[in-house]
Amino acid sequence: LKLGYCYFPEKTLDEYKNNALACTNCKLANRRTNVVFGDGDAPCKVMLIGEAPGKDEDLSGKPFVGRSGQLLTMMLESIELKRPKDIYITNTVKCRPPQNRDPEKEEIIACNDYLQAQIFHVKPKVLLLSGSPAMQTVLKIKTPISKIRGTWIDKEVDYMKMPLKIMVIFHPAYLLRYPSKEKGSPKWLTWQDLQKVKKYLL
Ligand code: SF4
Repeated sequence: LKLGYCYFPEKTLDEYKNNALACTNCKLANRRTNVVFGDGDAPCKVMLIGEAPGKDEDLSGKPFVGRSGQLLTMMLESIELKRPKDIYITNTVKCRPPQNRDPEKEEIIACNDYLQAQIFHVKPKVLLLSGSPAMQTVLKIKTPISKIRGTWIDKEVDYMKMPLKIMVIFHPAYLLRYPSKEKGSPKWLTWQDLQKVKKYLL
């Protein structure tokens, strides 16, 4: 099945989800238990794109349910965003890469129509890109996350009428590796970033 951006308004998000559940567009289909399409209401004021499903997500079919997901849920609740009603969450690719490796370029490209359709239907006021694959896929840049995180970016895309309001943030799996909450630590920086999101949404 090949999709095209011009079809986004023609199908509902559920129809795209059903297509993804049967998708064999890339080799990640071979070893998955479940396709992890996304979780949340659509439209939704905030959307977050992570990297790829891990073991817990592959088993449950839901994004961000393992340790990283628990941390993400706490971070979101700290700025009064409750899953699933206040935030739609998905990943750059919908099937788990083996041994949790990074998704490959061909896999990201094969899955990109689903991602664009999700953004189109969710119509987020704020789009959070968590981790390098999400940043590189949507923004088409390779800047280190430490240099770009926490900055508001307005991005024109051909599948949305309005520019997307985007912020890049550290991935929760990265934050789990650095327990410190001291000033300047990744957790402290992410807290500052989330406060900016909260202020913008008020
Ligand atoms: S990762 Fe995306 S493109 Fe690849 S099989 Fe899964 S749904 Fe299809």
